[in-house]
Amino acid sequence: MALTGRAAVAHGPGRMEIREYPVLPPARDQAVVRVSMATVCGSDLHMWRGEMPSLGSGAVVPGHEMTGRIHALGAELRTDTLGRPLLEGDRVVFSFFNPCGACWACLSNTARCPHRYRLRATADTAPHFHGAYADYHVIKPGQWVFKVPADVNGSDDLPDELVAPANCALSQVLYALHRIRIWLGDTVVIQGAGGLGLYACAVAKEMGAGQVIAIDRIPERLRLARAFGADATVDLNKLPTKAERVRFVQERTEGRGADVALEVTGVPQVVQEGLELLRYGGRYCLVGTIVPGASAEVVPHDVVRASRDVLGVVGYEAWVLPRALEFLQRTRQKYPFHLLVSHRYPLEEINRAFEDADWALSQGNVTRAAIVP
Ligand SMILES: [Zn+2]
Ligand SMILES: [Zn+2]
Repeated sequence: MALTGRAAVAHGPGRMEIREYPVLPPARDQAVVRVSMATVCGSDLHMWRGEMPSLGSGAVVPGHEMTGRIHALGAELRTDTLGRPLLEGDRVVFSFFNPCGACWACLSNTARCPHRYRLRATADTAPHFHGAYADYHVIKPGQWVFKVPADVNGSDDLPDELVAPANCALSQVLYALHRIRIWLGDTVVIQGAGGLGLYACAVAKEMGAGQVIAIDRIPERLRLARAFGADATVDLNKLPTKAERVRFVQERTEGRGADVALEVTGVPQVVQEGLELLRYGGRYCLVGTIVPGASAEVVPHDVVRASRDVLGVVGYEAWVLPRALEFLQRTRQKYPFHLLVSHRYPLEEINRAFEDADWALSQGNVTRAAIVP
């Protein structure tokens, strides 16, 4: 009997149903991965709530953060993107998008190719397993694939909890902080201490920040931010006005303001504050505000007359993903990455996972839900 696998299928926002599809032998340039863990990202929740369009149209398999083992390799696929031999059974991470390499954005070295989800098809279109919430995922040409670095003794390999969010959340933060440039000794303000913000505290410190200040409204998140390297935290309940928070950052920078601010809240209303937290010539990077049409008031004067840089970043380049894995391996004893994934659900309980994750988000819990198919 032919092998089949389950996939969660969404017909738009809201409930998903579990369907069974044949697991086809991979085409010459494809690989079939047996998914071992997929995590629920903030953008998955945005799609589930109908706040932004899903990756692909029609009935699709959602999800994009995942890891797993090579189940079957196409005849022509012999190495990962770094040229290292790839074998069935190898643990891998991979990008969830495929830059086309041939459009104006790609040819200009922009990370955000407008056609990067063009190979996402409906669940009924072979090879069916186009998303993350399924037993399998089919890697297609153009997706970067990297072996998960193995521990020399094999006893201390990176667990799935650390690896699964690497292709989205961690890589996104790493690339954003690279693009906005951390100078040695910078004061970096992180607006929002959710999953992205906690990664950002650790990455900014490791990139040479002198001082990291995390802002959030949930005390538990701020406690975690300190565990992830933040030197100071701002509790919105204790400093409820923008003026107080600006003063707090100025007091910690001899009146200058921060060198860098990173927006990872998803709340457009924080953007003006982000500008005001910066010194003259400071650099502002926006990552979290991804919902189309969500607007906020900004005073352009505070960009121009203070000569501040403002940068939006989505997506990343191929080099980011293997460095994200090496970063985890190097610093896993230093920062509690394992706390970022707290709840695990079998694939059949995907709807409960989303409901719980949505509730956790509204309550301010940072924990990511994981699907273990
Ligand atoms: Zn994501
Ligand atoms: Zn392109």
